[in-house]
Amino acid sequence: MCKIIIPLNGWAAGQRKFRFTAGSEFFQMFGNQEILDANVSVEVRVVKEGSQKVEADLHLSGSVTVQCDRCLESLVIPIEEAPEEAFKPGTVEVDWDLSQEVYDYICLAMPLQRVHPQGQCNPDTVRFLGQGERKNEEAGNENSPFAALKGLFEEK
Ligand SMILES: [Zn+2]
Repeated sequence: MCKIIIPLNGWAAGQRKFRFTAGSEFFQMFGNQEILDANVSVEVRVVKEGSQKVEADLHLSGSVTVQCDRCLESLVIPIEEAPEEAFKPGTVEVDWDLSQEVYDYICLAMPLQRVHPQGQCNPDTVRFLGQGERKNEEAGNENSPFAALKGLFEEK
């Protein structure tokens, strides 16, 4: 079981912290195939007041690994999220499944454009994939092997 379940029964009013880890199985459970690997620590602070009022804060930190859109190599995206909103369960008498909320927040924390920082892509794959259409970019790209070669000749 890789769900994030908070037991709401069996403890008195007050504050409790629960820790979970969202690994790759967690994302597979949602049918997400973009996330190749994950290690996100999920801290849930639950505040219970009386028997009817429950609220929870989330704190997510760790990383997920996806495929780089440009070179198709693994790209590790750091996750550090502490949503401002407090979560409230539908009912206070049962176990509370926060999996969907956690999943949504991790997905929101990921950038739309998933690429390595400039110059850190695998140059072989980029050249192979970008044949023809990237000529303009390559001409002005200092990291291109052609630019380096050109520099060598000019020095002599
Ligand atoms: Zn890349």
